[in-house]
Amino acid sequence: MVAYGPMPRRLLLLLLLLGCGKTPQPVAIERASILLVTLDTTRADAIGPEAKNVDTPAYNALAARGLRFRQAYTTVPQTLAAHSSIMTGLYPAGHGVHENGRYLSQKVPLLAEQMKSAGYRTVAFVSAFALARRFGLGRGFDVYDEDFGNGREERTAKETTDRVLGYLGRQSPQPLFLWVHYYDPHYPYTPPEPFRSRYAKQPYFGEVAFMDEQLGHLVQAFEQQVRGSKAIIIVGDHGEGLGEHGEAQHGNLLYQATMHVPLLLLGPGIAPGTTDAPVSIRRVFHTMLDWAGLDTAKSLRGSDQEVVVGEAMRPFLDFGWQPQVMAIEGRFKTIAAGQIEVYDVIADPAEAHNLAATANLSRSVRAALKDYPLPSLEAPHATTDEERRKLASLGYVSATTKPVVRPDAPRPADMVRLFDVLDRAASLFVREQYAAAIPLLERILKEDPHNLDSALRLATAYSSLGREKEAVAAFRKAEAIAPDSEDVRTYLALHYARTRDWPRAVPLLERIVAESPDRLPAVEALAVMRQRQGRIGEAIALRQKIYSQRTPTTRELVQLGELAMATGQTAAAIDAFEKAHSDHDLELGVLYLAAGRLQDAKEALDRVPPSHPEYAMALFKRAQVSVLLQEPDHASRIEAARHHADATTRELIARERLFR
Ligand SMILES: [Zn+2]
Repeated sequence: MVAYGPMPRRLLLLLLLLGCGKTPQPVAIERASILLVTLDTTRADAIGPEAKNVDTPAYNALAARGLRFRQAYTTVPQTLAAHSSIMTGLYPAGHGVHENGRYLSQKVPLLAEQMKSAGYRTVAFVSAFALARRFGLGRGFDVYDEDFGNGREERTAKETTDRVLGYLGRQSPQPLFLWVHYYDPHYPYTPPEPFRSRYAKQPYFGEVAFMDEQLGHLVQAFEQQVRGSKAIIIVGDHGEGLGEHGEAQHGNLLYQATMHVPLLLLGPGIAPGTTDAPVSIRRVFHTMLDWAGLDTAKSLRGSDQEVVVGEAMRPFLDFGWQPQVMAIEGRFKTIAAGQIEVYDVIADPAEAHNLAATANLSRSVRAALKDYPLPSLEAPHATTDEERRKLASLGYVSATTKPVVRPDAPRPADMVRLFDVLDRAASLFVREQYAAAIPLLERILKEDPHNLDSALRLATAYSSLGREKEAVAAFRKAEAIAPDSEDVRTYLALHYARTRDWPRAVPLLERIVAESPDRLPAVEALAVMRQRQGRIGEAIALRQKIYSQRTPTTRELVQLGELAMATGQTAAAIDAFEKAHSDHDLELGVLYLAAGRLQDAKEALDRVPPSHPEYAMALFKRAQVSVLLQEPDHASRIEAARHHADATTRELIARERLFR
């Protein structure tokens, strides 16, 4: 049993007075070290002493010692957006992330930043690419472990736990903020043995049971190895539909299956028990600040009540369907999504009986729904193709178009038959499996004719397969849905760029890039066009611009280096080859020599191995450098260049005045 001692505020005050910006001193403080465990895709009724269909002994043992919130709600049923609320204390309307594959703004302060500046060691272990550092949650963490191994996009609770256990051995005088994210219950459900057999008919619960076992190992290690006062928070990021209300997974609706999550606290000031007060998972943020001694406002340790709000904007953002907001007060949940639904979630957790006709909404609930801001209709953030493919392999694909405001916007709850088709079509599209995506996209447009994202994906699929007539017809349809849309123009331009008609793409791309310089696909297409037009200088400038906004591959850098080298742009070529960090020492040597950087040239050329196919050239260049540097052995270097000369260098050597 671990002692969760009270927080020594005096010591904390001392630390604050000493100032945190100075050289870190090992300060003997006794603030709580905190373990935050986020359980991905874990329904409230799938874990804990009241769970049906599954045994979770580790969680149950903790629940017996802690405070269990029986009415905890996520802010949004998607991984990155929900975690963004946990890490900022804000609803999605505040932090701006409404779905996966978006970037959390640098301007939003994060929990880890505050913990770190208060003297905490901040360490995170995440288990899926959806939470990769590049999406913005890594700020403020000393360690952000996202190594899933071998190009995988996720790892199991065991793999993650083993990494954490390896880390926990290190002792430090600082208090620890440790965030561990488990991803196992996410689709597809493939628990290892013995859970696979034990839950053969319900593999989702098998994943939860496996995760629970690992949670037990994790908590035991945390309690045994971390010194001082300790606190633990376990929280779900969202649930899983499992077919309820027609939703198999999560993200598109606001019903209990995906919004109601487990939440458990153990720590200073927490009396064991349960509570039915509805709370938002965003208050994990405030509770952590409380335990860190920074701020007690909205801490779950206190008794603050608020109307709990949540949203599911993905169908709105991606397809132009009705935006969805919910508000929970006491036992009643109100959903506003084109029409109002009211449920008594205590008596009717399946939300089978809509009480809207007789319910009297309180002023605070009405205000919460009315005041909740809609996401702005700006163009989505630019994720790269690679990021989209990785997200697709986790089952997440979001639109790449700016949503249109649709007068015919359907209620998402009325469109459940399309959820699976939309996901599969988007995933196939992102993986460039266009032939397989086309029939699904055709079906979506038949049932939801004003779905701009699907219309553009269909047009692009035809275009990529060289079916130009069908592509143009689909583009006409997209233009009818969204006249004067920059998305339509962009995709049409990318279509022309693929065809013999490519000169028609040029003016379109010029306009798009002038109006929206951050639209990387358009900038990339224009770079290709410029190269075809022989306007190499402009092509190079565009590529440099692209690579300043996203990380280029080694191959792209080498191509840029070669392009710049061929057109005599020495500085640009050196920059590209240096960033490529690959075996281009010969090129670099030649370029450094051209730039008069003799010492750099010497070192680069010395790195060229004799096995290099153009080793003769390397020796020739090295001899030139040797003469220019007036090295004592320059004569023998000229001799070596002559001795190993090939047809090209023989002539160059013969003409080289430096060698006379
Ligand atoms: Zn999740």
